[in-house]
Amino acid sequence: MEELRKKLKEVFGYDTFRGNQEPVINNILAGKNTFVIMPTGAGKSMCYQLPAIVRPGTAIVISPLIALMKNQVDQMNAVGINARFLNSTLTKSQINKLKKAVLAGEVKLLYVAPESLTKEENVDFLKQANISFAAIDEAHCISEWGHDFRPEYRRIKSIIDQLGDLPIIALTATATPKVQLDIQRNLQMEEADLFKSSFNRENLYYEVRPKKSIKKQLIKFMRENKGKSGIIYCLSRKKVEEIANFLQVNGFNAKPYHAGFDPDVRVKNQDDFLNEEVDIIVATIAFGMGIDKPDVRFVIHYDVPKSLEGYYQETGRAGRDGQKGQCIMFYSYSDIMKLEKFNKDKPVTEKENSKILLDEMSFYAESTVCRRKQLLHYFGEEHDDAVCRETGMCDNCKFEREEYEAQDYIKTTIQAVTETDERFGLGHIVNVIRGSQNQYIKSYKHNKLPVFGTGKTEEESFWKSVVRQTLLYEFLTKDIENVGVLKLSQKGKDFLKKPYSFKLTKDHDFSDIDLGEDDG
Ligand code: ADP
Repeated sequence: MEELRKKLKEVFGYDTFRGNQEPVINNILAGKNTFVIMPTGAGKSMCYQLPAIVRPGTAIVISPLIALMKNQVDQMNAVGINARFLNSTLTKSQINKLKKAVLAGEVKLLYVAPESLTKEENVDFLKQANISFAAIDEAHCISEWGHDFRPEYRRIKSIIDQLGDLPIIALTATATPKVQLDIQRNLQMEEADLFKSSFNRENLYYEVRPKKSIKKQLIKFMRENKGKSGIIYCLSRKKVEEIANFLQVNGFNAKPYHAGFDPDVRVKNQDDFLNEEVDIIVATIAFGMGIDKPDVRFVIHYDVPKSLEGYYQETGRAGRDGQKGQCIMFYSYSDIMKLEKFNKDKPVTEKENSKILLDEMSFYAESTVCRRKQLLHYFGEEHDDAVCRETGMCDNCKFEREEYEAQDYIKTTIQAVTETDERFGLGHIVNVIRGSQNQYIKSYKHNKLPVFGTGKTEEESFWKSVVRQTLLYEFLTKDIENVGVLKLSQKGKDFLKKPYSFKLTKDHDFSDIDLGEDDG
């Protein structure tokens, strides 16, 4: 114990471990498989860096991005630890030198891109080395349900197996229950010890604004926050350039960033942002992974993100120093439709997956339930919104929202889920309640159920909102295996036996937004 702390101080200069770091480190040092879920900025890297230093041999760190690897290798070298990376940027002679150093036992951490790890010549070489353990960073890349799916990640486990009986530590900052299960299955780590921290970022303020007169809104926001550091995410490269230019013309210190620029321009703009030469970076989502700038004061989504997971990750770059960060998203349903159109040529399952993620996104935006509660629910975390209400740390808790007594509506929803044997998703449940006569309803004979059509006087959008909130307030749960399927929770069963007064809130009305291009 003491030894570990001494090392922490000696090498990194820190006095104490943060959150789960110490138990995680002890677990991997005990040779046990370890699964770490910690939000961005919580200090995941330490969880494998310190054990790598302490354990004899070389730890392999699998990491998806070359920039990320380079960053970490530089940081480790700066504190006197021999860390290296193996990826496609190295020349033959550099690789030969590296291999020698590893085989001589000089290297404590070897960062490897998944593409390099799976190369036969590298596997052969690693077999000869003394490997202490394998760390899989950004482990959500394994899952098609994550926001950064990388097919090569699915081959990692079989390669590690070839290197011997190595303990594995998998780490991610984002894992919905579904993604978590995918990771565990793929790495055959169902039995691994799980260390999951809360995803609540108390210092982040979340707000969704209608995407209307957006440029006016942007200028106003920028004036109010002049000189502060912030990121504006746009969907397309074209938009990135347009908005960066628009801000520059209006006297703001902004630079664009996207994968279409030459690497030197990208590095320059990123460094200017990190070094405070530039206040605002306007970027596609290509920007940000591994960026450790503590004082980002705002993250703005000019366009709707493709998933809540991505959204959480991107907003997570604000306020890493613990001071307040504002996360503002501009929303219009036409953005959701645009994204759906992008997906139209994709394979069927991918298209369906994307559609579910987008539905979640639009529900999030339109709902008046505490943003924090919604985001955390998405990550499988139950959250009482009392604190958010008190402090007004999201728009829905800060501003008045319209409540209504929902006891009967909740009861109807739970009845519909029960009567259809907990085998269907939101859309079907709403159809049953509203008495729609479609082919599914008929083939399952759901038009014969007592609950069928009992809610026909209310609109479809109303019922969708009720069902969503019934989920958010945990009367229902999601089936992890069958995506989209709703089931009853204990709370729901109890409610059905003995219903009680419960208030739900009316969704935001975004319908007056121009469905065409954004104005401004
Ligand atoms: P993550 O990968 O979870 O996003 P990082 O590993 O980049 O987070 O760590 C975030 C920051 O926290 C880094 O600047 C890191 O040096 C710092 N940090 C990590 N562990 C500690 C600690 N025990 N005490 C103080 N700072 C720490």
